[in-house]
Amino acid sequence: MGISGSAYQQLLREYDARQLKAVREYRYRVKKIEEEIPELVSIDSRIAELSVDMAVMRIRGKEFDRSALEEEKKALVLRRRELLEQAGYSEQDLQPRYQCEKCRDTGFIDGRECSCFRSEIISLLYDQSNIREILERENFSTCDLRYYRKDPLPEENGESPFSIAKKAFEYAVDFVKHFESSSDNLFITGATGTGKTFLCNCIAKEILDKGYPVIYLSAVKLFGILAGNAFGSRSQERSDEDLFSCDLLIIDDLGTEYANSFTQSAFFNCINERLLRHKHTIISTNLSIEQIRTNYSERVFSRIAEKYKFIKLLGEDIRIIRKLEG
Ligand SMILES: [Zn+2]
Repeated sequence: MGISGSAYQQLLREYDARQLKAVREYRYRVKKIEEEIPELVSIDSRIAELSVDMAVMRIRGKEFDRSALEEEKKALVLRRRELLEQAGYSEQDLQPRYQCEKCRDTGFIDGRECSCFRSEIISLLYDQSNIREILERENFSTCDLRYYRKDPLPEENGESPFSIAKKAFEYAVDFVKHFESSSDNLFITGATGTGKTFLCNCIAKEILDKGYPVIYLSAVKLFGILAGNAFGSRSQERSDEDLFSCDLLIIDDLGTEYANSFTQSAFFNCINERLLRHKHTIISTNLSIEQIRTNYSERVFSRIAEKYKFIKLLGEDIRIIRKLEG
């Protein structure tokens, strides 16, 4: 789970740099303030002396003598605060300013990743997914089913596009919920503009937020990358290994790519590898499962028919409806 080893190492280096910067700035600030208020230096060294003396006295059981020292220390602390305030500073200015106070920019608390570190990893996963911006607009919280019509369709056993879409979104929620414990795959069919990509985006966001890598590619792009890797004609954008092993691969708009014998075998190889590795795949397409048999191959068809859950979306082009409604 998570990002690649090299990205992880890079993040650790960033944390080192972040911490170093906080400490450097802190030292610079302290030096500047001490130059401005030289009395601070003597106060601080006297406070340090007193602390040592008091510790020694505690060990020797001389509690009575300690109280005088405590008084002196208290007065010095007050004087220190006064001097700082007069010069327009506060105690905070003499502390390092970390981006995350919890882990002091180390990224770890008691050997465990701090929440800030987890957020950084999720942010990197978003970057890798290709769909960072779109997920801000298209996710379960912005999903609006009222664009689907509610009139029953005889050819759908009386179900309406609305009830079909509702089921699809409910299934998507279920997919997200059982992501860790299942190896479900989805085959989402529907005409252009019926919300397939939107549904994929909803799922992608939830899986990324769980901290799993998601790669989102249009079929055109996917086959371009696979061809590039196979024929060495392009610099490697994504290795086959990335595509075969990421926890969720979303292939959008299957069928829009230029099909040939290479795409047929590359596609089989990709989905088959992912099945063998128990990695989730979501395919969205305008094609029916019968067309998959014709356009790709019997073995692609049988893998999908056997191992994928089918989700259908119906309705008019929702993007047009939205535009009309402004
Ligand atoms: Zn932290």
